[in-house]
Amino acid sequence: MIPPGHNIGILGGGQLGTFFCAAAKRQGYFVTVWDPDPEAPAHAWADARIIEPFDDPAARRLFMGCCEAATYEWENIPVEIVAEIEAKILVRPDSRVLSLLQNRISEKDFLSEHGFPVTPYLHVREIAQLHAAVKTLGLPVVCKTVVSGYDGQGQWRIARLEEIAPLAPQLRASSSGWIVEKWVPFSRELSVVAVRSETGAVAVYPLVENRHEEGILRECRVPAKMDSGIADKASMLAEAVLAALENVGVFCIEFFLLEDGALMINEIAPRPHNSGHYSLDVCSVSQFEQQLRVLCGLPLKNPQLFSPAVMINILGEEIRVLSSEKDLATLLEIEGCRLYHYRKNTIKARRKMGHITLTNAKPEALETQADLVRSLLERAARPAGVEPF
Ligand code: AMP
Repeated sequence: MIPPGHNIGILGGGQLGTFFCAAAKRQGYFVTVWDPDPEAPAHAWADARIIEPFDDPAARRLFMGCCEAATYEWENIPVEIVAEIEAKILVRPDSRVLSLLQNRISEKDFLSEHGFPVTPYLHVREIAQLHAAVKTLGLPVVCKTVVSGYDGQGQWRIARLEEIAPLAPQLRASSSGWIVEKWVPFSRELSVVAVRSETGAVAVYPLVENRHEEGILRECRVPAKMDSGIADKASMLAEAVLAALENVGVFCIEFFLLEDGALMINEIAPRPHNSGHYSLDVCSVSQFEQQLRVLCGLPLKNPQLFSPAVMINILGEEIRVLSSEKDLATLLEIEGCRLYHYRKNTIKARRKMGHITLTNAKPEALETQADLVRSLLERAARPAGVEPF
């Protein structure tokens, strides 16, 4: 066990890293954040910062020298760095699982080999293979870069045969090719955060319903409003996936729910997840505290949900809602509204700039509050002078 007062580290300094730092520092740990971007938000929360590139040998030595254990908050961290670090200090989840889940083909191969439900998929590297894949799978399909895609980036939906040829340059430019997945006509998107400790104990968070826009998470609702049979099934699948991975850490399993009630696994993240942010406000233990607990060998806690909640991401220009005193006041006057600002200096279209968690025991009141937040965000993002029809 690594007790409070000791030094731990995190690779990646985005908002997930800030929440990890906050959880760790509250319990007396000292945190080193390594992110080559000096503006990464978690640097401001760190006790020590490293801003050298991940392939800098001196920075690696420094990180290993000043941390007793480490985790990461981003699955695109170069796997060879994690492998080198874990030869010296404890890293959770380990490089084996990171490497498996970094690659969409090995991730889906793993799931299907273990009998988990996934949409049919094929690996393509050239346009002739893409034509053949479309023929085999049937339209529509979605193509995704095998590595390095996130938040809907590096994804192309193909609904008609004519849409294939124009994609040739992008496919050629992709070093590891694309995974072509049969489009899933899902009725809803769901996710579950689950944590596995060194002893193999698993704690599963409640089922969350997610709504995406252009591949980016827009909002989440917990508990997902649905048949308890589906929630139980999702929870059992999440536990079984973690048992099959035989690893230690926080994971998020994303599902598609089909019309007939069947669940399909879309992907697994080996880290806390945006859809688990509600746990900061309405759970007996947040996903970030669990990340700390399993990293340091502290007891795993079974999460209790205290209240229904809706989490709404603040994307791109929507962050301007905070520049209007009137809108800021309206927002903060909402009962049960908790605002998180990620303090990112640059606003980019659709970039996650913050989030709002709304809590209310009454479902109808929660929906009214969410409508109000949505309208404030939408107005803030609208260019001046442009009114909706
Ligand atoms: P991903 O990066 O795989 O999580 O994809 C981002 C979003 O794209 C998902 O949350 C879905 O909304 C959508 N999506 C991804 N794959 C599929 C698929 N095979 N069928 C339908 N929608 C998909």
